[in-house]
Amino acid sequence: MQQATIVPDSVQPPAPDRQAAGERVAARLKGQVRGRIHTDPLMTYAWSGDASSYRLIPAVVVFINTEDEVRAVMAAARAEGLPITFRAAGTSLSGQAVTDGVLAVLGDGWRKLDIHPGAEQITLGPAIIVANANRALKPFDRKIGPDPASQATCKIGGVVNNNSSGMCCGVTQNTYHTMARLRIVLTDGTMLDSGDEQSREAFRASHAAMLEGLHQLHHEVMADPDLVALIRHKYRIKNTVGYSLNALVDYHDPLDILIHLMVGSEGTLGFVSEVTYNTVPEHPFKSTALVPFPDPQSAGRAIIEMANGGLQVTTGVTAAEYIERRALATVEHLPPMAPLLPWLSENSPAVLIDVTAPDATTLEAEVAKAVELLTRHGATKVDFSTDEARSHALWDIRKGFFASGWRRPPQGQHHADRRRGRPHRAPGRFRRRPARHARRAWL
Ligand SMILES: Cc1cc2nc3c(=O)[nH]c(=O)nc-3n(C[C@H](O)[C@H](O)[C@H](O)COP(=O)(O)OP(=O)(O)OC[C@H]3O[C@@H](n4cnc5c(N)ncnc54)[C@H](O)[C@@H]3O)c2cc1C
Repeated sequence: MQQATIVPDSVQPPAPDRQAAGERVAARLKGQVRGRIHTDPLMTYAWSGDASSYRLIPAVVVFINTEDEVRAVMAAARAEGLPITFRAAGTSLSGQAVTDGVLAVLGDGWRKLDIHPGAEQITLGPAIIVANANRALKPFDRKIGPDPASQATCKIGGVVNNNSSGMCCGVTQNTYHTMARLRIVLTDGTMLDSGDEQSREAFRASHAAMLEGLHQLHHEVMADPDLVALIRHKYRIKNTVGYSLNALVDYHDPLDILIHLMVGSEGTLGFVSEVTYNTVPEHPFKSTALVPFPDPQSAGRAIIEMANGGLQVTTGVTAAEYIERRALATVEHLPPMAPLLPWLSENSPAVLIDVTAPDATTLEAEVAKAVELLTRHGATKVDFSTDEARSHALWDIRKGFFASGWRRPPQGQHHADRRRGRPHRAPGRFRRRPARHARRAWL
């Protein structure tokens, strides 16, 4: 009888020495963690993928629920020479949450959700799903700043460690800028709570050499004006890749530098066990439009004017998402797109826009300003609506581009081809790759 194989050739099991080390890590952790520990091939294979196209089979999977367990996993992994990768929801798109070492998965022990009086701050555990935090804040007309399109699934631990942003958060409402306090466990097992003066002082005493090193690094960077200008420029535009190096130019106190370097560190500097966010307004009045332009240049000019010099605003246009023609082609068959099709040429991008306000009168005035601006820049159809269902449908289209990019539109032809009577052909890059064409344009 032919033996069934579940592991495709392209996904190799960890090297035998890693597998053996994984077994030893598991043995060390028995009795130290209350969550599950897996080393068997079926379960490790089941945990081999995140939302990216990369796969690595972990040598061991362990569920963690407390800071003591985090320390135990760090000690066991270090003793056996294996790297650790933390996993929150695993929606990372570049392989941040896969490993052939120790995969430490956040259990339910990290679901603290504490809204502070007045709701201007919220303290969250790393396993809280973003949408749930926002659901809790909604009655106060507040939300957290980071708003990744994956917010129905992704968790706070991943948001902090990817410095995830989103469609409204721009470069000013991400974790780096809206975090009030962070509690971490460093890879040497030390806990640091940036909001607790005692913890800060204890850390200054125990980690003086590390802080001095960071201080020197700060001075080295600040002594190089070109480097300072480059760093400032990179973080004025959207840059959520890796460590938040802007911490080296934004802060003097090395402890603050360290805390801010954690943002975007992808779990490489330590574990985030709690974060307090300054919340941002979520205005109850909103109007949405998907606005087609005749060409990318005119859409770009309109966005630059709406972006107001990069200054994030909380009233008026709060989101403007540029969507290029090839991305639109993958969703033309969806009902909310129907009214737009006559306005799309072969080259037309569209911009998905939210205007928000604290009351109906302000909303009307802000929409009028947006309509004037968009029309002046050549928008071919401007149709704002306060219909919540329509707004959700349009934003769902945007959120689904990662998936829609993988497939051809199910109907026979895409619009531009249909007009020219050519048989349907999905645009070349869409036959192979996910859509990275919905660009976040709110600068
Ligand atoms: C459909 C879709 C849409 C998306 N849209 C956006 C978007 O608009 N904007 C955006 O920025 N991203 C987006 N993403 C990417 C991703 O969803 C986000 O980065 C998300 O915040 C990751 O959260 P997660 O819980 O899935 O984290 P994971 O993928 O599990 O982990 C992310 C990183 O954080 C580390 N980590 C997790 N928890 C901890 C912890 N407690 N301590 C230390 N390290 C930890 C992991 O090791 C990993 O390096 C999207 C992804 C998908 C699939």
